[in-house]
Amino acid sequence: MEKSESLKLLEDEIISDKLLPLRESNLVFGEGNPDCEALFIGEAPGVEEDKQKRPFVGRSGQLLRASIRELGWKEGDVYITNIVKRRPPENRDPLPEEIEAYRPYLTRQIEIINPKIIVALGRFAMNYFLPEAKITRDQGKVFSVDGRLVVPMFHPAAALRGNNAMAQFTETMKKLPDVEAMPRETMPRSESATKKPLHPQSRLF
Ligand code: URA
Repeated sequence: MEKSESLKLLEDEIISDKLLPLRESNLVFGEGNPDCEALFIGEAPGVEEDKQKRPFVGRSGQLLRASIRELGWKEGDVYITNIVKRRPPENRDPLPEEIEAYRPYLTRQIEIINPKIIVALGRFAMNYFLPEAKITRDQGKVFSVDGRLVVPMFHPAAALRGNNAMAQFTETMKKLPDVEAMPRETMPRSESATKKPLHPQSRLF
């Protein structure tokens, strides 16, 4: 089956899953080229994304998409989605149970797309793959997670808030075309994390 067909079936499954939280908001499934090398994953849709049913189309999306184009990549060369696929009310942070509820669908979306590189935008997306990571310490590093390269970076909304985050966001973006040649970091695992992973299913793909 073509990847786009499998993704469509997955989207239909999400639509008919009545147990998912945030069903009062629109579904923002994700978009782009399913044959991409790099998959960008954010946190959850905001107001504009909810309206347009497309990921990263508001202010932070404009920064993200412009930065992707500056790399010489076309927006159609990458795929963009979120860990939580519906907007939390008043743009609050997604709750742990919301992240868990959407986890099986993102896991399958990643399996279908099968990207070499995952760019995790912001701490929620980063901690989804690397529960122990800290954004200020680990953004811009390259981690190997279950056979894929995961690059955490500041969320574009954090970059827009100013200070040093914009400079680091820009610097990490510039590294993305060379990620495969960069050294891989290993995440030190705390005692408790070794005994009891925060998100047991995050190791499934
Ligand atoms: N912020 C996100 O994390 N995702 C979006 O789609 C838009 C804003």
